[in-house]
Amino acid sequence: MSKNDYDLGIIGGGAAGLTAAAGAVQFGAKTILIEKSAKLGGDCLHYGCVPSKTLIRTAGVYALLKRTTEFGLPQIQLPPVDLEAVMNHVKNVIDKIQQHDSPERFCNLGAQVVFGNASFIDDHSVNLDGQNLSARSWIIATGSSPALPPVEGLVNTPYLTNETIFSQKKLPANLIVLGGGPIGLELAQAMGRLGSRVTIVEFMDQILGPEDQDIADILQEQLKEEGITIHTATKAVKAQYDDSLFSLTITDKSGKGQTRVLKAEALLVAAGRKPNIDGLKLEAAGVKFTPRGIPTDPSMKTNIKHIYACGDVNGQLPFTHVAGYEAGIALTNAILRLRRKADYAKIGWCTYTDPEIASIGYNEKRAKEKGIKYRVWEEQYAENDRAQAEGTTKGKIKLLVSPAGKLLGCQIIGAHAGDLIHEWVIALNGGIKLSTIAAAVHIYPTISEVSKRVAGKIFAEKIFSDRTKNILKFVFSLKGRACSLPK
Ligand SMILES: Cc1cc2nc3c(=O)[nH]c(=O)nc-3n(C[C@H](O)[C@H](O)[C@H](O)COP(=O)(O)OP(=O)(O)OC[C@H]3O[C@@H](n4cnc5c(N)ncnc54)[C@H](O)[C@@H]3O)c2cc1C
Repeated sequence: MSKNDYDLGIIGGGAAGLTAAAGAVQFGAKTILIEKSAKLGGDCLHYGCVPSKTLIRTAGVYALLKRTTEFGLPQIQLPPVDLEAVMNHVKNVIDKIQQHDSPERFCNLGAQVVFGNASFIDDHSVNLDGQNLSARSWIIATGSSPALPPVEGLVNTPYLTNETIFSQKKLPANLIVLGGGPIGLELAQAMGRLGSRVTIVEFMDQILGPEDQDIADILQEQLKEEGITIHTATKAVKAQYDDSLFSLTITDKSGKGQTRVLKAEALLVAAGRKPNIDGLKLEAAGVKFTPRGIPTDPSMKTNIKHIYACGDVNGQLPFTHVAGYEAGIALTNAILRLRRKADYAKIGWCTYTDPEIASIGYNEKRAKEKGIKYRVWEEQYAENDRAQAEGTTKGKIKLLVSPAGKLLGCQIIGAHAGDLIHEWVIALNGGIKLSTIAAAVHIYPTISEVSKRVAGKIFAEKIFSDRTKNILKFVFSLKGRACSLPK
């Protein structure tokens, strides 16, 4: 029998911590979860996925109302947006979901939830505001926070982040967004649609750096059509705030080119994340860390064998579903002493701009980096009847297939990409053949048919080649074309 107070201690009550706690109690482990803020739920619920997706939907509805004439409907004169009312709606949605994450619910499940600041005393014990608590194993799930890029003067300005934007009451007439990654782009488009004039400043040569250029270009074109200005390969060097106005000095990527000053009422910093490790006293437990996070092996173990790190704090893929996946692995390994390992190659993700961009497996960039041979197959949304009916024709599905015909990866840009990608998540995880997807009857009219069509193209090339046609003609005495248009 262990001399520790608990079988499992969890620090952080967000996506990873809550999954770990709910799972651990099901195995009968005496579990304590420590959360430093006043509420459970973490970034995803309070400052991330939930408020951003609610804001995106709200802004999407407002944008759609401006497109009534495209659908043969009368034009509507829309009054300007009251941001306070919008953010109240966002808060209501958070509050509803918060009910699932109450300490009472977790107590009912069997896990003790305590609020306060924990810091390690040694590799089994933490100090929680003066009280010592020990556990046989610990899971660190403290998440991440917005990182501040090295821009002179920025720290002295009242810049916004994802932690403050959802409590704004007045829509800024203009907004600079520092960062052209998923968080920056989602919020930039939403704020733009609500009525702010938005300028995005991105250091990399393209927005959404890890995605293929052709995919990012489709989104960039859409954002530009909506009136958003985008500066790529651009460095922000200096920020100032005077007379309720931000001035952001920008230059080229090298930092040595000509400078220009952008002015706006608000500045949103969405330029990367940093792990929440301050105050944990990881040194006291002997846990190694870097500025990117707490490194783990695939079984989610840190360098200390009974301390695990899950979710954003370990610096792997910063998504809620990944945090939950990692927590499931860590808790079974910690409690059942298994050696389950994470496999990130089969995990997908989505950026919830309009059009959405969802991805799993290899794209061209990742395949080239690894020297993997591939062929690309595409199907356009414009060829899909449902997309035509709904006025969502911008987008495509793009498959990467090995020379031997094996699925390597899939990217979808277009309406509902985050839902459509799951056919490919299952295909990759279950080793399902492309011929199975091509043969499976997809319901008409759905956008999902793009998946069947793109898989079908791979076989159509072989089945309907001139060679096959000539053989069929010979064997079955077929007469060939009945009609041809004049050239
Ligand atoms: C704007 C935005 C939009 C996003 N949208 C999506 C999306 O659509 N889909 C998606 O999959 N992901 C999205 N993400 C990412 C997602 O929010 C994170 O990947 C996820 O929250 C990580 O979960 P976590 O458990 O690691 O951290 P969190 O959920 O942040 O939980 C960490 C918890 O630890 C607590 N904590 C920190 N330090 C301590 C300490 N010392 N002691 C005790 N407690 C501590 C924190 O208060 C927090 O409650 C988004 C992120 C942002 C910022």
